[in-house]
Amino acid sequence: MTNSIKMLDGNSIPKLGLGVWQASNEQVVEAISTALDAGYRLIDTASVYANESGVGEALRVNKVAREDIFVTSKLWNSDQNNVQQALEDSLSRLQLDYLDCYLIHWPVPSLGQYSKAWEELIKAQQNGLVKSIGVSNFLPEHIETLIQQTGVTPVINQIEKHPLFQQKTLSDWCAKHNILVQAWSPLAQGGQGIFEQQQVTSIANKYQKSPAQVVLRWHLQRNTLVIPKSITASRIIENIQVFDFELTAAELKTIDDLNKDQRLGPDPLDFVGLD
Ligand code: NAD
Repeated sequence: MTNSIKMLDGNSIPKLGLGVWQASNEQVVEAISTALDAGYRLIDTASVYANESGVGEALRVNKVAREDIFVTSKLWNSDQNNVQQALEDSLSRLQLDYLDCYLIHWPVPSLGQYSKAWEELIKAQQNGLVKSIGVSNFLPEHIETLIQQTGVTPVINQIEKHPLFQQKTLSDWCAKHNILVQAWSPLAQGGQGIFEQQQVTSIANKYQKSPAQVVLRWHLQRNTLVIPKSITASRIIENIQVFDFELTAAELKTIDDLNKDQRLGPDPLDFVGLD
């Protein structure tokens, strides 16, 4: 299994990256340094995480060649009518002149602005400020609207997805449209008990891997990209060591069977989050 995959627009994206939600500017500098040393080449941030400056600082001090790193940021809900400025602000905090991927963070259907915002993302891509454009937390009806109105399909839909909330229907719909699914909270925000379940620990023991590594490997073999978050060096290193073993079909099914349709985050249909 190679560590990156081609998107619909021809650009490549690493299958695994570091998520930095709920990490401070200071914490991300340290975490990203560890991650880059461990081989990570994708960082997932967002303007609402209030740590883009830390991400920028980390990239600057680590002197990674710009073309070797994939940086994703996201347009916050209250900026859906202010895309150009929001993007420029993100780039300035990140000390970058382009993003590898820019996502509309949530559809916020009640605002009725996501299609207009998408048109602005398309312009930003044409202007070279963003290499690839995608969405997050979008349902098929929202993506269909974008495609109908602009003819441009998002390359990624970043959605909540983990063993307790597998979103199979949405994932299958995205796959049918060649939209890559990237899982947020791929570890169910620390496992919610699944790391202790016997079905998971026995697979982990078999491969001498941790339960978290088994869950990340399950995502990858189910064609899902992952952005696990940690600011703990040992976990950051552990979470990328998932490309040297392979779960059997029966083991994949064992993890499939843990699904409880249990959402940990907000529902995209009614989440507004303008703060
Ligand atoms: P996650 O599922 O990645 O879980 C992170 C937590 O799991 C850590 O805080 C830690 O407690 C634990 N953990 C990490 N590695 C571990 C290991 N090896 N063993 C045991 N425990 C471990 O949760 P997340 O941070 O919510 O999601 C990952 C990333 O997804 C975020 O950092 C962010 O970048 C992105 N995200 C996006 C959205 C969105 O709306 N687009 C929403 C939430 C998160």
